[in-house]
Amino acid sequence: MNSHKTTATSASCPIVPSQGMGLYIHVPFCQTRCPYCDFNTYQGIDRLMEPYAAALNSEIAAWGKVLSKPQVNTVFFGGGTPSYLPDGALGRILSAAQAAFAIKDNAEVTVEANPGDLSQEACRRLLEQGVNRLSIGVQSLDDGLLNLLGRRHSAAQAVQALQDAQQAGLKNINLDLMYGLPHQAMAQWRDTLHQMMELRPAHLSLYCLTLEEGTPLHAWVAQGKLPEPDPDLAADMYHYAEDVLERHGYQHYEISNWSLPGRQSQHNLTYWRNLPYLGVGPGAHSRLGSFRFWDMDSPLGYIAQVKKWAASNPPPLPELDHLALEAIPQIGGQEEISPEVSASETMFLGLRLLLEGLDLAAAQERTGLNLASRYKSEIAGLIDQRLLGQQGTVLRLTKPAYLVSNQVFTRFLA
Ligand code: SF4
Repeated sequence: MNSHKTTATSASCPIVPSQGMGLYIHVPFCQTRCPYCDFNTYQGIDRLMEPYAAALNSEIAAWGKVLSKPQVNTVFFGGGTPSYLPDGALGRILSAAQAAFAIKDNAEVTVEANPGDLSQEACRRLLEQGVNRLSIGVQSLDDGLLNLLGRRHSAAQAVQALQDAQQAGLKNINLDLMYGLPHQAMAQWRDTLHQMMELRPAHLSLYCLTLEEGTPLHAWVAQGKLPEPDPDLAADMYHYAEDVLERHGYQHYEISNWSLPGRQSQHNLTYWRNLPYLGVGPGAHSRLGSFRFWDMDSPLGYIAQVKKWAASNPPPLPELDHLALEAIPQIGGQEEISPEVSASETMFLGLRLLLEGLDLAAAQERTGLNLASRYKSEIAGLIDQRLLGQQGTVLRLTKPAYLVSNQVFTRFLA
């Protein structure tokens, strides 16, 4: 995955299938906290960066042994703000992953970045370290809205960051944008999208603001300090984006994601296809075998517990079960995924994929679950309501269903 590539071979792993898994690496540091964010991330704990990176490398090495060096198809550094880590840290973590896992040649390696952390030199360094995809948190190209969102960059910095990354040779770039914001007018959204089309990133993720309870933004709206976002306006913004992006050659391949042909996020496809992934770092979630489990949120607790686990020199696991997961001290919680839950998740995650859709025959082959017969009446009802379409064994949301997809998904809840 970096310029010093070796063709790694995976040993036979009884837990991860031979097709491999995704690897998510959580970075819980931000220079400042944004008032709308409820992710497991912290400001003011930069002193933990070094011990955190050491713990992460130990956790990666231990999982490599426990899972018998399985194949990894994609690596995703998320957060938090991975680009906020000191220079060289991401490269060292990638080297640890290369030693622990059989990372596929040309694997997609994504880093989430804040525009303020990027320069041409920083992007060149990321490329040298094996990163080949960036996901930049632009959010808006309006300084007033960026200020309201508590972001530490300006619109000009965001544009510069994208151009720097492109000039450094990073071509596979996603930009995150938000709509449905308090005080955001349609004219402003149009302007942001048109500027985006000139910049031509490979991928765009458009997120409607969700007011998460417990966040300052939620409180400001509740206290009347900010106007409540208008859902009808947000819907108009979504439709406008659909039109403009399509006209400019972007494929609307997932409810909130558009890409130029061939530039879909391979890592996120793993989630939507309900395939296995391992998450490392505080609060990171994993889905392996028939279990979902997650590391504890506290960075300090995580560092201490990973040390214990690594010191115990854990042996390869023949299978994953409750007891095996309980014996891993940094794991904060686990649940067994029943066949009912797995069926339900396969349905509502797969239906998020607008182009690919959900192939019931392929899903049955992969999971052993006969989704067509399990959900026969739900599928027929949704087709009658013109919210689902079916071609052969493939189900897809219809266009009118995109904005009410949650209503469709609830029909498949276990
Ligand atoms: S930079 Fe991202 S992860 Fe950090 S606080 Fe802001 S929204 Fe949350």
